[in-house]
Amino acid sequence: MHEMALCEGIIGIVEEEARKRGFAKVNVVCLEIGALSHVAPEAMKFCFEAVAARTVAQGAKLEIVETPGVAWCMACSKSVEIKQRYEPCPSCGGYQLQVTGGEEMRVRELEVD
Ligand SMILES: [Zn+2]
Repeated sequence: MHEMALCEGIIGIVEEEARKRGFAKVNVVCLEIGALSHVAPEAMKFCFEAVAARTVAQGAKLEIVETPGVAWCMACSKSVEIKQRYEPCPSCGGYQLQVTGGEEMRVRELEVD
């Protein structure tokens, strides 16, 4: 389960922000997860609680925003939304797609005290 390691990374980011901005408590961590990132939101919520214990993010709520997968279709010469990698273009049905977004996971926002 790589979500545990990912959560440790998130807590690391939050703790660094806490040092820089000087807050002592985080209420909400808003996380963006791309549809193509292979990260399971439910597993993230589960791991986050465990990893956040005894850190500045203890008791914080993890809010997850799922962002769509985006690919560039060479045949259509435009960006299209895809739900999975290796999926055909929704406009033309072709497979000449280059993934350009939706693979990443990042902390979008922190609500702090
Ligand atoms: Zn297309």
